[in-house]
Amino acid sequence: MYSLKCIKCGKEYDKRSVIYNCDCGGLLEVKIDFSSIDIDKDDYENIPLSVWKYKEFLPVEREPISIKEGGTPLYDCKRFSKLIGLKEPFYVKHEGLNPTGSFKDRGMTVGVTKAIELGMKIVACASTGNTSASLSVYGAKAGIPVVVLLPGGKVALGKVAQALIHGAKVIEIKGNFDDALEIVMKLCNEEGIYLLNSVNPYRLEGQKTIGYEIADELNWTAPDRIILPVGNAGNISAIYKGFKELKSIGWIDRIPKMTGIQAEGSAPIVKAFKDHKEDIMPEKNPETIATAIRIGNPINAIKALQAIYESKGLAEMVTDEEIVEAQKELAKLEGIGIEPASASSIAGLKKLLKNGLIDKDERVVCITTGNLLKDPEEVVNVCNKPIVVETKLDKVKKVLNLIKQYNVTQILQIY
Ligand SMILES: *Cc1c(COP(=O)(O)O)cnc(C)c1O
Ligand SMILES: [Zn+2]
Repeated sequence: MYSLKCIKCGKEYDKRSVIYNCDCGGLLEVKIDFSSIDIDKDDYENIPLSVWKYKEFLPVEREPISIKEGGTPLYDCKRFSKLIGLKEPFYVKHEGLNPTGSFKDRGMTVGVTKAIELGMKIVACASTGNTSASLSVYGAKAGIPVVVLLPGGKVALGKVAQALIHGAKVIEIKGNFDDALEIVMKLCNEEGIYLLNSVNPYRLEGQKTIGYEIADELNWTAPDRIILPVGNAGNISAIYKGFKELKSIGWIDRIPKMTGIQAEGSAPIVKAFKDHKEDIMPEKNPETIATAIRIGNPINAIKALQAIYESKGLAEMVTDEEIVEAQKELAKLEGIGIEPASASSIAGLKKLLKNGLIDKDERVVCITTGNLLKDPEEVVNVCNKPIVVETKLDKVKKVLNLIKQYNVTQILQIY
């Protein structure tokens, strides 16, 4: 049993309504009646992790459109933890290991299943890249046409490649993501197309399973803090909702401090947080190397700020340099390859720890949202070029001698 409810005025809508905002303009969320759910956490004991492990908590009534999303690893990152001086275990939930390489798959498996359930004929989104990659794949799996709007020239190569090969109609506009979202929202309303940006409350239901999985993996406890990148601000809202639900049914006893990180050139939520505001001032020209979070007018800002305030979390911004440094460190020390947006969570942790806003004794989970291979061009630009030598053994040995002079920490510095 579930319905759609406005977070601003409380008005409820039938679960089959195709709407994305309340009449009052407020954001909607799925309200689930937990009294009708008859399952205990012990029943989950021997079921492998995945989005659909928690199907009792997902508002879907048909067979899912699924390519086995979720069930991503929660890595215990001892070497990185030592580098930054954390005392408790530090975990990275690597969402870049979802089927299309980002957490968007969790939302799309639920969102596209809902589109089919509602009898929609076309699905669409605006995207900084990963949403379009994911929607293209789930659209292909469901056999439903997909339209995606991209900000021209600002989408990482791997993501465009995915949208193209899986058969989406890819439209590039000259504007940025915020412009693309404004257009696609109107397009969907006027043409009866199903919108699968994170303003769609059903999509966020899939993403709340990140919170469910983390609690499940930690034996139904919550970490002290969750840190993640924030773009359009759906994911932080969704994960917070997941933890809130688990607490409301007594499966965990507290909610982690939700901590959102943005890039300095694109940080409306961080600025609102620092000014103790409930809503943002949109930024006209967001800019960052982390293209997945290059968003000036995050549609879920109000939900995200509520999540941060209610959980006593934080919001912080990091520079592109700090993002790249964190990306390289996680890659070198832990073998976790992530795209720049994801590295903002790691950079944010380092900064907040250094500034004393996060305690060394906290148990922290960083969410790394997208895979390294999404943005190969960025990697090539920020790493040392391959060393070119003649086709001779002694030339190669010369390079080897160079490497032998360094230990791992020094190698990190020269990278
Ligand atoms: C979509 C995305 C984000 C931002 O998530 P929001 O829900 O829009 O805040 C961050 N990182 C990556 C890799 C993404 O694809
Ligand atoms: Zn309302």
